[in-house]
Amino acid sequence: MEKIFVTRPFLPPLEEFQEYLKKIWDSKWLTNNGQFHKELEQKLGEYLGVKYISLFSNGTLALITALQALKITGEVITTPFSFVATTHALWWNGIKPVFVDIDPNSFNLDPNKIEAAITPNTTAILPVHVYGNPCNVTRIKEIADTYGLKVIYDACHTFGVTIKDIPVLHFGDLSVMSFHATKVYTTFEGGAIVCHDESTKKRIDNLKNFGFLSETTVVTPGINAKMNEMQAALGLLQLKYVDQAIAKRKEIAEQYREGLKGIAGLTYLEDFPGVKQCYPYFPILIDKDKYGKTRDAVYEELKKHDIYGRRYFYPLISQLPTYRSMESAQPGKMPIAEKMAEEVICLPIFPDLSTKELNMIVSVMQNYKERKS
Ligand SMILES: *Cc1c(COP(=O)(O)O)cnc(C)c1O
Repeated sequence: MEKIFVTRPFLPPLEEFQEYLKKIWDSKWLTNNGQFHKELEQKLGEYLGVKYISLFSNGTLALITALQALKITGEVITTPFSFVATTHALWWNGIKPVFVDIDPNSFNLDPNKIEAAITPNTTAILPVHVYGNPCNVTRIKEIADTYGLKVIYDACHTFGVTIKDIPVLHFGDLSVMSFHATKVYTTFEGGAIVCHDESTKKRIDNLKNFGFLSETTVVTPGINAKMNEMQAALGLLQLKYVDQAIAKRKEIAEQYREGLKGIAGLTYLEDFPGVKQCYPYFPILIDKDKYGKTRDAVYEELKKHDIYGRRYFYPLISQLPTYRSMESAQPGKMPIAEKMAEEVICLPIFPDLSTKELNMIVSVMQNYKERKS
């Protein structure tokens, strides 16, 4: 039987991509703000409901550049419950990450615990909308305003997500997206920074292209983080199909909830009120006392059936060798994140996961619970 990985990209018909490739070949313009790059920036901005967006070669470079664009230094408050790139982007900027615990109902940075972590060196907050569920953007803005802090959202999981019809990308000083192959919307590798004014966009565009302002003027030591024409072409094609893909993901999430709801010891998130989700992951928590098996045992059992769930996010970023000696990373300081990291597993979710495959995954979960060993 075919292996079922946690995600699989949805790809447009090959012929459609070949038409774009032909145009790239004919024009011989491969990168550096080419026609597809320009077109994607405009169309993606329209789709997402944002005016200022800069495309990047990947999400990690977009994160690193976002911190540069706002000249963030000192200490930044962030979550340990994310993909490693969130904190690595701070490290690459010589910024000290200060980890704060998460909220058990959203897996996101707990706003009630932010203030206690603020010091005279704190300059910004870097929260993540984990699994596509928006952070408490209102509370985070209040805190940031009170203490004069910048807010950069890692929005790598929130493609097209809205709160009461307002794009989640409207919140914070900047939002950073990823279009990696494993994400809801992909450009092979890719990313973006969303900002709210023309001059910030100019600074970001400048930073991602070595700092070039003109042929002979280099105003800042920028990086090379440009998106190329092939990436942009796939992005344009994906835009045609992404609504369909998200609708399928929603269906799958609903089928999982229906299938898993009777199994004691398993919990999952429901949609947040007023939020339009993009269903990038389907995380479940395994309570080993009630379910009778540990999360790691479940992970292994699924593998035996060629189902490759992922333990996002285990280990916590704060538990990695680079960060674990930091004061904020000490064991016991973030009890919720520590517990979630031990209990969570993300089940496969992608547009062409079949009902048959989904039912099989659900029955593995059911049967394993009932098994004695
Ligand atoms: C994917 C991801 C990133 C990194 O993006 P890349 O495009 O893979 O560099 C950063 N943060 C989060 C939360 C992600 O999921």
